[in-house]
Amino acid sequence: MRRVTFNYLVLARGQAAKILTIVLKSALIGCPQNPEKGADLPPEEKTGVKCPDLFEKCFQYTTPQDIRNLGIYPYFRPVQSAPGNEVVIDGKECIMIGSNNYLGLVNHPKVKEAAAAAALKYGSGCTGSRFLNGTLDLHIELEHRLAKFMQREAALVFSTGFQTNLGTISTLVGKSDAVFIDRQDHACIVDGTRLSYGKIYKFAHNDIDDYERVVKNVVNNGHRGGMLVVVDGVFSMEGDIIDLPRLVEVSQRYDVRVMVDDAHSVGVLGETGAGTAEHFGLLDKVDITMGTFSKSFASLGGFIVADAAVIEWVKHTARALIFSASIPPSNAAAVLAALDIIETEPERREHLWKNAHRMKREFAGLGFDVGRTETPIVPIVIGGDIEAFEFWKALFDRGVFTNPVVSPAVPPGQAMIRTSYTATHTDEHLDRVVEIVAQVGREKGLIS
Ligand code: PMP
Repeated sequence: MRRVTFNYLVLARGQAAKILTIVLKSALIGCPQNPEKGADLPPEEKTGVKCPDLFEKCFQYTTPQDIRNLGIYPYFRPVQSAPGNEVVIDGKECIMIGSNNYLGLVNHPKVKEAAAAAALKYGSGCTGSRFLNGTLDLHIELEHRLAKFMQREAALVFSTGFQTNLGTISTLVGKSDAVFIDRQDHACIVDGTRLSYGKIYKFAHNDIDDYERVVKNVVNNGHRGGMLVVVDGVFSMEGDIIDLPRLVEVSQRYDVRVMVDDAHSVGVLGETGAGTAEHFGLLDKVDITMGTFSKSFASLGGFIVADAAVIEWVKHTARALIFSASIPPSNAAAVLAALDIIETEPERREHLWKNAHRMKREFAGLGFDVGRTETPIVPIVIGGDIEAFEFWKALFDRGVFTNPVVSPAVPPGQAMIRTSYTATHTDEHLDRVVEIVAQVGREKGLIS
């Protein structure tokens, strides 16, 4: 522990020295007492090469404006009310089927009261990282509660789910190691592997035969480092579930450690809501489970659970944790209150599943292509990107808010409307959604 701290101090000093050198150098350039040869000449006259302006791509970037001009731009729409099941967007009342508020807790009085009380007691932020001054007793309590809820030895809370994957994967996978990812893993898993120094290998989406082929090749080609596979438990766009039993079986055979991103599964899958591993009865076979507070937990932040030794390593080495401020007290308190509700009100999860099954059945029955969903994320496959924006706009105009998903988030030609459901959607909400989606589907010729 002492050594790690020392290393960080050395690193910080090294960086400071570098910055100082740069500052001094730039102060000297153009300084009349210390003229550097050619310092006042434009770069092309010094080198004979004219470098392009870094911002040129920005000046040429017209795609969003082109889509705005068509009147179908769907992004960054300001929500002017609490982000519940009925929202006001651009002054318009809508049924929200585009959130990740799976258990309907963002607007729950107990969650809001806990957040407010924590802000009053502890203030508005932590002004520092978990590593130094930013750990509150609330963070420690939350980590104990999460470890217990997820049925693992220990937990570690990060500032966002995105940072959780960046920090965890990049610190675990070293220069001589290999990391395997599903082609449809979330962007922050991909970026976490890119930040690591290990070799990255991809396998076809949820195709465990392909995973085995890739691992086997790596091992047969003489790989001798450690190995990690990272997958989404529930894939965020299509709502399908990883084939965890087969993934675990292959991983064990080749000594690959398993990490599951349960951003969309915690609170949703499993008898107690502990996620994908619990759903498959494989709690003791997954090495690291990652989760986020931005969905079922109705707040902001992220976490991992694992054996205590792994948590001890990650908490002292993950740069995304050590060099970033911790979640504010109100966020931590909101998650603790959400946990209380999740643990004591299993009927919320039951209602969520009832809604999810109904919507999949209704859309498929109408003739829509709902892909491979098995969860409360129910996509409607449209095809082209512009067609997806048009479909989105037609729904929005009739008071249903959804998310259009276009390439590169999905392969070209497979743009979709991503709909997602909440425990607190009523039958009336869903009746109305089905009616409007059917109307638009017929108008656009997607169903007959
Ligand atoms: N993993 C997955 C699968 C996600 O869908 C998301 C968020 N959309 C994240 C990680 C990142 O979580 P956060 O929003 O907490 O940064």
